[in-house]
Amino acid sequence: VYQVFDRLLQEELQDRIPLEAKRLVIHSTANPGVGDEAHFKWLNQARRHGWAHYYLDWDSISRLVPEGMVAPAQGPTANRDSISIEICEAPAGQTDEFLEAWERAVWLAADILDRYGWETDVLFSHADISKRYPAETDHTDPIAYFAQFGRSFSDFTADVAAALKQRRELPPAEDWQEQLIDQLITEGLLTERRHPNQPVVWWELAAMLLRVRQPK
Ligand SMILES: [Zn+2]
Repeated sequence: VYQVFDRLLQEELQDRIPLEAKRLVIHSTANPGVGDEAHFKWLNQARRHGWAHYYLDWDSISRLVPEGMVAPAQGPTANRDSISIEICEAPAGQTDEFLEAWERAVWLAADILDRYGWETDVLFSHADISKRYPAETDHTDPIAYFAQFGRSFSDFTADVAAALKQRRELPPAEDWQEQLIDQLITEGLLTERRHPNQPVVWWELAAMLLRVRQPK
């Protein structure tokens, strides 16, 4: 789990058009070594040609535009229904930075898909969007950037799918606690005699667990 920092662009620099999100588009910045804070600073100085909802690098994640508002990152049609993530590019050969940013991007993409109830069929690269709407945009990021570090967009999609699956398989916290208590009881841990010099003796633990179990 990573923290997302709100570094919101001044409202007058944004499009201020409501967004009905239907897909997620992944970009890379083509600015090797320049992180999310520096991108925010530059984008927040004057109205620029384009920007994304999120910028992330090897040590942080910034949200520049709320998910409910348009961020023009990838051509008019997709801008109207896409949430966008810019991965800040690690300098050539800096594999640690590349992987740190990759992990953050996988986590954030899985978080967004999970919150919207989406699957990876709505996860696209900017290159995918250019193929679909060739008259509107022609960028091919982040394909070449990923390739520089031996990865493909399919690798990225597979990692997001795995992260999403793991996240959705986790039972709710309360169920998980219940299961643990059942396990402790059925495995005999709470019915055996324990040495009384333990910091918490078994019957104290049992009393606490039984209390937790009682319906509220
Ligand atoms: Zn792009």
